[in-house]
Amino acid sequence: MSDNLRKPLVAGNWKMNGNLALVAEFNHALASLNVNAEVVVCAPSSLLHGFETGSFSIGAQNVSHLDNGAHTGELSVDLLKEAGCGYAIVGHSERREDQNESSELVALKAKKCVSAGIVPIICVGEPLEVREADSVEAFVSKQLAALVDTLSVDELSKTVIAYEPIWAIGTGKTASPEQAQDVHEFIRSYFSKVDAQLAQGLRILYGGSVKPDNAETLFAQKDVDGGLIGGASLKAEDFISICQAAN
Ligand code: PEP
Repeated sequence: MSDNLRKPLVAGNWKMNGNLALVAEFNHALASLNVNAEVVVCAPSSLLHGFETGSFSIGAQNVSHLDNGAHTGELSVDLLKEAGCGYAIVGHSERREDQNESSELVALKAKKCVSAGIVPIICVGEPLEVREADSVEAFVSKQLAALVDTLSVDELSKTVIAYEPIWAIGTGKTASPEQAQDVHEFIRSYFSKVDAQLAQGLRILYGGSVKPDNAETLFAQKDVDGGLIGGASLKAEDFISICQAAN
């Protein structure tokens, strides 16, 4: 696990799943959670009011880069703050693909979060063809460049990066610990060219088919500071054991 500068973070991404019964189950199961990691549940926004936080925080899965106003269907940082969100996932590959979100828009969303005291969990990661073409670093660099162009060093220091290889999301195909470490190390070195202290403190999560039986080896990698968990975050028991693996 990463050095002491960086507190591990485990964030669950429920995607478009769950209901108030699952919220109640999580409230009960996580109430006595006591791990040396920050724990976040990013549930659908319509469920957020049901959580009883304390041992964990809540987050959104998306946010608008705009202020309150005439933007039907969008949620601003003010609205998310009022709903109790401390975090928001931005730039998940499903949104980059389904909603055509560009890296520039993702960067604006991240900046907006930081301005409101919400920690953006910024997703980057390559599709299978890019990995097969051995172009992962070039692909991820473009996603990171938009962040560096839009956020100051101080703003970047208030973000979290999630490396999520698209071929590993929801497929059961996890990146090997070595593959994850290689890209995490590359991401940290990318930021170290911007500011060495920023790079040292920046938390970089791994996401992509993390399960209770592979979490510990992934989280043991030097530059892996926790995980963004999709499918396994829908089962309280699995999610808790992944949080314990980050201890
Ligand atoms: C995700 O969607 O962010 C994710 C990592 O999903 P899964 O864990 O199911 O691969």
